[in-house]
Amino acid sequence: MDDANAFPRDGLILSAATTGSWTTKAQNPAVPITVEEIATAVMACARAGAAIAHIHVRDDAGLVSCDPARYARVRSVVEAAGCDVIINMSTGGGAGQTTDEERLAPVALAPELASLDCGSLNFGSRVFVNSPDFLLALSRRMLKHGVRPEIECFEPGHVWNALRLIDDGLLRPPYWFQFVLGVRGGSPPTVKQLVHLVEMLPPGAHWSVCGIGRAQLPLGLAAMAMGGHVRTGLEDNVYYHRGELATSNAQLVERLVRIAGELGRPVATPAQTRRLLDLPAQPVGD
Ligand code: ZN
Repeated sequence: MDDANAFPRDGLILSAATTGSWTTKAQNPAVPITVEEIATAVMACARAGAAIAHIHVRDDAGLVSCDPARYARVRSVVEAAGCDVIINMSTGGGAGQTTDEERLAPVALAPELASLDCGSLNFGSRVFVNSPDFLLALSRRMLKHGVRPEIECFEPGHVWNALRLIDDGLLRPPYWFQFVLGVRGGSPPTVKQLVHLVEMLPPGAHWSVCGIGRAQLPLGLAAMAMGGHVRTGLEDNVYYHRGELATSNAQLVERLVRIAGELGRPVATPAQTRRLLDLPAQPVGD
């Protein structure tokens, strides 16, 4: 944004979070679970206007997995189809369902982006542990493989942790933050909380927001007006309207594209997003 007193007109980066660690077909039959389903959903979201696809993978039983081979297959199916989208691999691993070593493994695939959860929290009925040692190991691993971290913050303490990693040279600009609001144990999903988190960011940081459940759309609209970017998808919310399931991930992306158009914020392409986040012009694989 050139003028801090004007509404933002710059490109809106849309991320699609298709699957997550927990959502099931019982909750919404449109949740993609297999490698092929995830790749198909990613491509549909890219066609709809998402520049970034945030992906998780599942095992044959549909449970969260960090298997690098499955991550690699999703990416290769998308690339083989000629679909241009920035792949953001999750290192979340489902709170307590996988070891730290398993969570680190996908980083060796050198995805353009990978998530870096910047602290621990209660996560519904579970505990999501991201120890200081794990943050050091993960940020070092990302530096080694040239992976841009998506710095996920669920509450202000996580931003504070990120600032320490920045001070220590373990996170390098341009910084890309993702605020996840509405997990019980993290920040409540309100505009007031979002403003507070944005105010903590270092100069020049880029940020996006994902609201959980019914907060997904209102927080996305707030971010659009504030100059931030937006994540949507069935990982965070399985509904389109209250009581009405979304029919696909792409349907949620399409709604944001329509609203962004009405607001006069064009949707950023993958190429524009790579320039903003200083990602290599071409995806780097193994
Ligand atoms: Zn995720």
